[in-house]
Amino acid sequence: MVVAIDGPAGAGKSTVAKAVAAALGFTYLDTGAMYRSVGLAAAERGVEPAQIAGEVTIELGERILLDGRDVTEAIRTPEASEGASRAAADPAVRRAMVAQQQRIVASGDWVAEGRDIGTVVAPEAAVKVFLTASAEERARRRAAQIGADVATVLAEQTIRDERDSTRAVDPLTVAADAVELDTTGLSLEDVVARVSALVAD
Ligand code: C5P
Repeated sequence: MVVAIDGPAGAGKSTVAKAVAAALGFTYLDTGAMYRSVGLAAAERGVEPAQIAGEVTIELGERILLDGRDVTEAIRTPEASEGASRAAADPAVRRAMVAQQQRIVASGDWVAEGRDIGTVVAPEAAVKVFLTASAEERARRRAAQIGADVATVLAEQTIRDERDSTRAVDPLTVAADAVELDTTGLSLEDVVARVSALVAD
């Protein structure tokens, strides 16, 4: 069974998806970490992400391993966020990542987090949630998380949102059968309870 959690940057997807997975005893899949890893590998090697997307080995878990090397922190820098967003706009990169993600969620119970889980990776997902929050709230949360300035985060976030929503392939859209949940002003407990209730239904 797949629970799909999609939405723009900073909507609280990671925190919510991890908590829901823990509450339900499902495994958490962070698809953004895969695009981040490909973006980082391409930047380090000075090549286009599409050239290496099918070659790199990405291991997801407590720590993120890129070809065996721990990149858990390295993929979270603002540069890595920008690199991930660029890598994710390339159709060849998306094909490689989506194929891997579909193999991963084919068996077992998953809470998968991303931008296209409910629309592309797992269109048959049992539960689809599209998390949103106001742009300011999202930027505030992200800034607090990474210890950065809100205005800078907001500016970068706006560029990434624009690119994610307007890219030619698999743009960020709400699946027709997704439940939209605006988390502005809601506590984590509230959001987790609402998503978990959808799974129980
Ligand atoms: O979710 P996260 O911020 O870690 O994702 C990094 C980038 O990867 C996003 O800005 C987005 O461009 C891309 N992404 C995607 N599809 C996914 C997950 C992430 O395009 N399923």
